[in-house]
Amino acid sequence: MNRVYNFSAGPSMLPLSVLEKAQKELVCYGESGMSVMEMSHRSKMYEEIIFKAEADLRQLMNIPENYKVLFLQGGASMQFAQVPLNLLSAYQTGKADYINSGNFANLAMKEAKRYGDIKEVASSKAQGYSQIPDWDEKKFRADADYFYICMNNTIYGTRFTKLPQTGNVPLVADISSCILSQEYDITKFGIAFAGAQKNVGPAGVTIVIIRDDLLGHALDITPTMLNYQVMAEKDSMYNTPPTYGIYMAGLTFEYLLSQGGVKAMEQRNIEKARILYDFLDESKLFHNPVRKCDRSLMNATFVTGDADKDAAFVKAATAAGFVNLKGHRSVGGMRASIYNAMPEEGIVKLVAFMKQFEADNK
Ligand SMILES: *Cc1c(COP(=O)(O)O)cnc(C)c1O
Repeated sequence: MNRVYNFSAGPSMLPLSVLEKAQKELVCYGESGMSVMEMSHRSKMYEEIIFKAEADLRQLMNIPENYKVLFLQGGASMQFAQVPLNLLSAYQTGKADYINSGNFANLAMKEAKRYGDIKEVASSKAQGYSQIPDWDEKKFRADADYFYICMNNTIYGTRFTKLPQTGNVPLVADISSCILSQEYDITKFGIAFAGAQKNVGPAGVTIVIIRDDLLGHALDITPTMLNYQVMAEKDSMYNTPPTYGIYMAGLTFEYLLSQGGVKAMEQRNIEKARILYDFLDESKLFHNPVRKCDRSLMNATFVTGDADKDAAFVKAATAAGFVNLKGHRSVGGMRASIYNAMPEEGIVKLVAFMKQFEADNK
C-alpha cells in the first residue's frame, strides 16, 4: 500500500484509521451478517448508527438542545436553494442579505435571487476574493429573514475570523470546508450547513444544523424533500437517507472524539497552517496572495507569479507523492487543502519539497 499525501480540496483525504475500520466492517457489520450498505434504514441496527453519529456530532460541536441536526442529500449546493426556500418567509419579508466572499457565496446568492429580495451587503469580488470583504453593519437590513455568509472560502483560501453582528436576523453559514476544524459557537448561527466531503466523510451527505424556531416557515412551492421541518420530524429519514455516507461520517466523529475533539483539532490545524504560511512568507519563489488576517486554516493558496513555473511545480510535486496541489481552475496557481485528516508530517514534508524546488529553480 502506497498512500500519497493528498491535498485535494474535496472529496479529500480521510483518516486512515477510519478507512481501515470501514474496510474491516465492510462485508459484515457487527453481528448483523450484512454490510451497512445492505441494511434497512428502518432497522434497529441502522437507527443506532445514525443516532450515534448525531450524538457524537452534538458532543463534538457542542450543539444545544434547541438545534436539530439533519443528514440530507444534494450537497452544499442544494442548500443554496433550500435555505431561501425555508427561510424567506420566516418573518414574512422575503428579504435576505449576503456577503459575497467568493465563488460559493456568489452561487448561493444567485440561487436565492430566484426566490426573494436579495441584497449583496459586501463583496470582495473586485479584490479577486483575496480577502474577506470589509462590511458596514449600517447596510444590513434589520427586517431581513436571514443573513448569509460562507465561513471558509475553499477556492481562495480565506476565512471569517469574526462574525458580522446581525442582531435578531438569523445568521446562516456555509461551513462546508471548515466544519470540525476549529471551535464555533453554534448559538451564533440560525443555520450552519456543510457537505461532508471536505472534512467529514465521502460525498453524498450534507449536514444541516438548524435552530428549531426556523423550522416550519417554508414557502408553499418548497418540494417536500427540501422542507427542513419534514426532515426534522422524521429524523432525516422521510425517505432513504444516504445510509453508508452517514455511517462513514459517524466513524470520523468517533475518531475525532478519540483525538481530543475539535479543540485538539483546532490546535493542530493552527500549527499545520503556521508551518506552511511561515514558509510562504519567507520564500522568494512562492507567495500566498491572501490578506494575512483572513488566511484560511484549511485551504492555503500560493503562486509563483509564473504560470509555467506553477505547472512545473505541480508536476514535480505529484511525482514526489504530493498530489492535488493544482489551484481551482478559476484562479490557477496552487492550493494545499490541509483538512483534519492531513497529518502535520505531510505539511513538513511538503515544505521541505518546496524549499528544494525553490533552490533548484533559482
Ligand atoms: C465544496 C463546497 C461547496 C459545494 O459543495 P457540493 O457538495 O459540491 O455542492 C459549497 N460551499 C463550500 C464552502 C465548499 O467548500
